[in-house]
Amino acid sequence: MMTIENPEAFNQIVCVAPAEGQRPLSIMTDPNFETMSNPEKFPISGGCFATERPNKITYRKYFNQRLLDVDGRFAKDTDYLFVAQYIVEAKQILDDANNFIWRQKPGRNFTAQQARDKNVVSQCVRKDNAYRFMKNVQGSPAYYQKTFYELLAMIRQLGTPTWFFTLSAADMKWPDVIQTIARQYGVTYTDEQVAALSFEDKSNWIRRNPVTAARHYQYRLNTFFQEFLKSPANPLGELVEYAIRIEFQARGSPHAHCLLWIKDAPKYGVDSNASVCQFIDQYITCAIPDDSDNELKDLVLLLQQHKHSNYCRRHKRCRFNFPHPPSNETLIAEPNEIASDTSHILTSMYKVLDSRKSQ
Ligand SMILES: [Zn+2]
Repeated sequence: MMTIENPEAFNQIVCVAPAEGQRPLSIMTDPNFETMSNPEKFPISGGCFATERPNKITYRKYFNQRLLDVDGRFAKDTDYLFVAQYIVEAKQILDDANNFIWRQKPGRNFTAQQARDKNVVSQCVRKDNAYRFMKNVQGSPAYYQKTFYELLAMIRQLGTPTWFFTLSAADMKWPDVIQTIARQYGVTYTDEQVAALSFEDKSNWIRRNPVTAARHYQYRLNTFFQEFLKSPANPLGELVEYAIRIEFQARGSPHAHCLLWIKDAPKYGVDSNASVCQFIDQYITCAIPDDSDNELKDLVLLLQQHKHSNYCRRHKRCRFNFPHPPSNETLIAEPNEIASDTSHILTSMYKVLDSRKSQ
């Protein structure tokens, strides 16, 4: 230490910014980034991705194992989750970009000179060629374009889908997901104790292990298809094919949009409207169950009623036009050329419904 009694210390160089003037290393090229940025997860510094092992594994397999580790120290750390996702996606983008360049057709090679030409690059961007290699990266526009074309091919092959529905995660009403995460922290809850927790407490538990919460939803979704929709009881008809798109709401809760193709289902525009309505009536009702089945009645009132939110009332009126006028039978609302002449009838009908609802 530099003191008056120790004047030699003046001659020692104290380096306060050892990395100044150097290029920072990318986490993709620094083999020690994982252990150095997560010392508490690697107390003996080995066992990370860069550690020598007899059989090489991919980043995807490595992080998959890390997140499913029974120990849970990786899955519970959201920063680690984002880094893992970043690395897996960056690796895939780099590999796919390299393959894309090598796979150019003979005679149409993209040269280094062209890559430096602004006009050639902007033409590639405009024609989407510059992004097409990202079609395997989930969530990218190129990925959604690819899956959209696959869906159009299914519609061409199988015809119009029979059912469309959305399955939301009622994670606040599923005691088992909160019980499972709490158990990882040594806390045991009964169903009644979970029901008594506040919204904030439930959210906190779910946030403490997003991997378990996401796997729980995926498991429920798979089980719903395998054990319910595909069961011999054919609750929505005999399932031929289906397509699912999972999206995440603002607070991170997943929901799945599903299309189902059912064997021998009548088709709108091909078969008569009466046979379409008869088919619908076999499977769907919007009536509130009577008191003979209290459990079903409670579920319908809790989960199957539209409740206005800021989202649906963004433009003052409910964008889904709820409440809908009641009807004793299933009707198919055809697009009407004289709709503009009858719009005042609809407006006054919704006024009546709104006033009835507010009473
Ligand atoms: Zn609404």
